Amino acid sequence: MSTPTVGVLALQGDTREHLAALREAGADAVTVRRLAELESVDALVIPGGESTTMSHLLRELGLLEPLRARLADGMPAYGSCAGMILLATEIADAGVPGREALPLRGIDITVRRNAFGRQVDSFEDDIEFEGLEGAMHAVFIRAPWVERVGSDVEVLARAAGHPVAVRQGRMLATAFHPEVTGDRRVHKLFVDSLG
Ligand code: GLN
Repeated sequence: MSTPTVGVLALQGDTREHLAALREAGADAVTVRRLAELESVDALVIPGGESTTMSHLLRELGLLEPLRARLADGMPAYGSCAGMILLATEIADAGVPGREALPLRGIDITVRRNAFGRQVDSFEDDIEFEGLEGAMHAVFIRAPWVERVGSDVEVLARAAGHPVAVRQGRMLATAFHPEVTGDRRVHKLFVDSLG
């Protein structure tokens, strides 16, 4: 693949920041709101935002099962924060039944929504990220953490002892928001994995 076309799910959340980060990382980045757009991309980014709202919209727009099917079929995906929650196989504290966050089952993890929020709502930390040189400044906003990691899942970073970046094959997820810091290394890692 020369220049991969990476979709950014654009139903809600910080879509624009991911489009910019992906372009700087060398991808063609396009928004995905409709089935035809989902079908045309090589890979997908699910942004930060609110996982319950995105789940509701995915269902309303008839995208939930097609997206699950593309992920099951091996479409590479990267999710930040709410995107990490959606990419999980299992969500703890998913929300009110009927309006809860729905797992897309791309990465074999259990995530807990708003996990750090019980201690401190939002915070920033310099963390180590497996395979990347030097510290990464990470912004956590009502972030989840990973509570269970399947045997095929690598933990790439931790904060306060909890996994906050994971990879399973060409599926990547971070509990923090690299799209808001100007550090493009996570997006580059994802884009380079598509080649
Ligand atoms: N707490 C949000 C959720 O449950 C995630 C927050 C974020 O994406 N910054 O989806």
